[in-house]
Amino acid sequence: MTELERKQDRAPVPSSWDYAPAPEARDLVQVRERYGHFVGGGWLEPKETYATIDPSSEESIAEVGQATKEEVELAVGSARDAFENSWSAISPSERAKYLFRIARILQERSREFAVLESLNGGKPIRESRDVDLPLSAAHFFYYAGWADKLEYAFPNRKPRPIGVAGQIVPWNFPLLMLAWKIAPALATGNTVVLKPAETTPLSALLFADVLRQAELPPGVVNIVTGDGRTGAALVKSPGVDKIAFTGSTEVGKAIQRELAGTGTHLTLELGGKAANIIFDDAALDQAVEGIVNGIYFNQGHVCCAGSRLLVQESIYEPLIGKLKRRLATLRVGDPLDKNTDVGAINSRQQLDKIKQLVASGEEEGAAIYQPPCKLPEKGYWFAPTVFTNVAQSYRIAQEEIFGPVLSVLTFRTPDEAVEKANNTAYGLSAGVWTEKGSRILAMAQRLRAGVIWANTYNRFDPSSPFGGYKESGFGREGGRHGLEPYLEFE
Ligand code: NAP
Ligand code: MG
Repeated sequence: MTELERKQDRAPVPSSWDYAPAPEARDLVQVRERYGHFVGGGWLEPKETYATIDPSSEESIAEVGQATKEEVELAVGSARDAFENSWSAISPSERAKYLFRIARILQERSREFAVLESLNGGKPIRESRDVDLPLSAAHFFYYAGWADKLEYAFPNRKPRPIGVAGQIVPWNFPLLMLAWKIAPALATGNTVVLKPAETTPLSALLFADVLRQAELPPGVVNIVTGDGRTGAALVKSPGVDKIAFTGSTEVGKAIQRELAGTGTHLTLELGGKAANIIFDDAALDQAVEGIVNGIYFNQGHVCCAGSRLLVQESIYEPLIGKLKRRLATLRVGDPLDKNTDVGAINSRQQLDKIKQLVASGEEEGAAIYQPPCKLPEKGYWFAPTVFTNVAQSYRIAQEEIFGPVLSVLTFRTPDEAVEKANNTAYGLSAGVWTEKGSRILAMAQRLRAGVIWANTYNRFDPSSPFGGYKESGFGREGGRHGLEPYLEFE
């Protein structure tokens, strides 16, 4: 062997220019083998348990409680006791201090939380780290600021807390949805029983440790884990004064029926089928980034995802060409790898739902495109998908897929864009891409959606209200508007 050949053997030059693995350290977070329910500031040993898994490997991470009706009642009782005997009696500025502490502790422990969120939910670490965690902390900071200013937020209306809030959150943004629920509830002087989603309970259980560090009085926040039965028990509990729910339209409707006529306050943040509208004067490369961020962010598990792309006909071909090229660069794989763009689908159930809807799209006659990508063998995965040749009547244009699947439609005039965008049972969000400011304002006036982004997509800020019209629910979260559902007025 010549000297040169020997060197080539261990040549430092890689054979292909692929990314090297860049895994975040899993041991940043200590997961216990078994968790109970967090009730009255301590752990309640659960009667029943189930295993929560890592959807990228299907491996079990921990045993968590499946709260029974009796356990839910203990949590509600503890929240009632805390409301009457400690939380409502302390001054608003003291309440604010606890919220500030929680926000700062979340910042300090953000890497730990980000790893846990990706481990239990399947979302890329880049997103947990750069979106979920900073926004969760920001939400607590923001509402900390309101706690002692409620009389200024609602002048001459004498706001007072409602009492015990039962809060039910989904699995797509487990910690962020917890923050959206708990921060305004505490700022307004209510106490809480929170139920995380069945598949993603771990960040809420770690949050119990943040509450301990913040020395929040026992019982002000209680956390019960379990599946839909636990949620239903919380909704039915006579001790709950307000239900705040984020999840599917189907369950939202069932909750509304259950609570009709009971006097229990209710807000619902449900599904969506947003239109992301691209006019022919838009900056196309930026629009492509916005489209990708609109539907492939968090594997498309986003209620306000831009799942229907409406493209003006004259730019259809160049735009779809650019979009397909961009899709080929998305990296699908290990959620804990810092280079991953699209992580694991949250559960087998959700994967089955995505597959079923995608099959319906092919059957109904849409053209499917998926970039070449190798999906891991274990775990739940779905390649980024674009459907073209989609008619408005197809299921993939009507139903929420809640996965990395985009349906493309076209339009010629602004009127047609508005008509198609509003042709949905939902009304949560929309996007408009155009160079013209006047067109943005005109479109925003006519689109029936709670949030409208212009030349951007999926941007969130605690100071701006979020919520839907029609089957997307009612009530607003975020901003000054987000205080109101947790208050009664004289
Ligand atoms: P879901 O069943 O509505 O779940 C939302 C939350 O409600 C979870 O904590 C859930 O517990 C709980 N729940 C289930 N049945 C209940 C009941 N009868 N009473 C009270 N609470 C109940 O939604 P999902 O099963 O997670 O997902 C189904 C579909 O909902 C998705 O495919 C998607 O289309 C939509 N979704 C929308 C959003 C959104 O942000 N708007 C978020 C997630 C899902 P379990 O976890 O045990 O089900
Ligand atoms: Mg469910």
